[in-house]
Amino acid sequence: MNRDGGFEFPLVKRTPSRFRNPIGKYRLNRSTACIACGKCVEICPYGVHSMVKGKVVVRNHYLCVGEDCPNPCHEACPVKALALRRNPDFAVMGDFRWPPDLIVSTWRMAEFGQAPDKGLEYRIGESGGGFDKLRIVFGPGKAEDDSGDKHEGAKADLGVKLNRRGDNAHRIRIEVPFYGGGMSYGSVSINTMLSRVKAATALGTFCCTGEGGYPDELKPYDEHVITQVATGLFGVREETIQRVKIVEFKYAQGAKPGLGGHLLGDKVTPGVARMREAVVGYPLFSPFPFHSVYSVEDHKKHVDWIKAINPKALVSVKVSTPTDVDMVAVGSYYAGAHIIHLDGSYGGTGAAPDIAKKNIAMPIEYAVPKVHRFLTEEGVRDKITVVASGGIRTPHDVAKIIALGADAVCIGTADLVALECIRCHNCESGRGCARGIATTDPELMDLVSLDWGAQRIVNMYSAWCKELRRILGRLGMKSIRELVGKRECLIHLDYN
Ligand code: SF4
Ligand code: SF4
Repeated sequence: MNRDGGFEFPLVKRTPSRFRNPIGKYRLNRSTACIACGKCVEICPYGVHSMVKGKVVVRNHYLCVGEDCPNPCHEACPVKALALRRNPDFAVMGDFRWPPDLIVSTWRMAEFGQAPDKGLEYRIGESGGGFDKLRIVFGPGKAEDDSGDKHEGAKADLGVKLNRRGDNAHRIRIEVPFYGGGMSYGSVSINTMLSRVKAATALGTFCCTGEGGYPDELKPYDEHVITQVATGLFGVREETIQRVKIVEFKYAQGAKPGLGGHLLGDKVTPGVARMREAVVGYPLFSPFPFHSVYSVEDHKKHVDWIKAINPKALVSVKVSTPTDVDMVAVGSYYAGAHIIHLDGSYGGTGAAPDIAKKNIAMPIEYAVPKVHRFLTEEGVRDKITVVASGGIRTPHDVAKIIALGADAVCIGTADLVALECIRCHNCESGRGCARGIATTDPELMDLVSLDWGAQRIVNMYSAWCKELRRILGRLGMKSIRELVGKRECLIHLDYN
């Protein structure tokens, strides 16, 4: 087991797909000409072929790296019995921000605990903007293609201290520069919630409940839970605020600012209704905005309310990214917040309407440098932790947003992809997700088991940490703290 500054980083354990035929980029067809010589079994470096009772079968199509293979079996086959082709199912998954390569490479990280070395693009998507146009500068003045680079980032420290005010609240250090973003009980299943929280506990970080209340099943993980207070106040109680070390106010969500939350009636099962003190089968809205907050003074009353109930708790303030987000951040600092959580416009699960996601809030890569600069000019940057979320999909996105000025990031969708989400955007409808992730249906939710889910998420983040250390190593940095606000480490492909 790795030693990580006193913290025992959890073990990676290979955790394959739950499904019989996992989706990969390629398919290999074997014709009847095959003489079962075993050549393909012998030469394939990825274990795609197996010999079973004297017959050769393609057991793991999904591991094939196709044209990138150093030993292509279809070329080596003495009787040319193998034909390689692209898998048509692969091409129809996802969207420009989460193209099939990113989805499948995230599955690969969740299975093996390391980034794929060939055949899949795991660093950027195909949106043509934002993070996908930013590159990390490793050489003097130019963005290098670091694919295939195996630089070991030694033991760069990835930990982040969350209480920078130096007050009497908890002195919390997370061992990785990310924590789990809020996904409510009702929007996702209890098994999904527990998998995320269990993984966060193993990784020495936190995971947020979202706004749907605080199920009792999370009690064993209290030390690593952030409880959320959102506009609907669903399930908010003094007892739950006292149970945790971090309380998050959600003022708005980057994927749908100005709209609030909406849980369709189909997902309001008896368990969800009990937790939210609502009626089974009726849709639930959490309004926008908090009607008790129209000024920094009102906001301070909110923060003081939490501090009165739990004086040791860190208070995080989650806001979307309007054009005056820098003023909001400074206001939150003066109101007493420990963390300002900026949620940009690309985030959200399949439940957030596209019209809102694509048109309202500012992208996070614009908001973070604006806030970082404003807090610095105000002389309070070192007193508050800036957490960024909203479309951060890969370890490269993490490095980029930290170089733009964030201290840490908050992740949501990538966790779901680790659990085999296919980005079909059906999260909110009917019984919810056919993959058993964003559902409250008892049969569907059993498709995700707690141990399997937690290990998949741990594996994915282990791969992220390796990549982050590799990036820091190449930049000559020993700690993720050194990267904060180092915009000179980035290049924009359109402007340089
Ligand atoms: S190399 Fe060709 S003939 Fe030999 S086992 Fe593989 S597919 Fe069959
Ligand atoms: S319904 Fe399930 S598979 Fe589809 S986008 Fe939502 S979480 Fe992913």
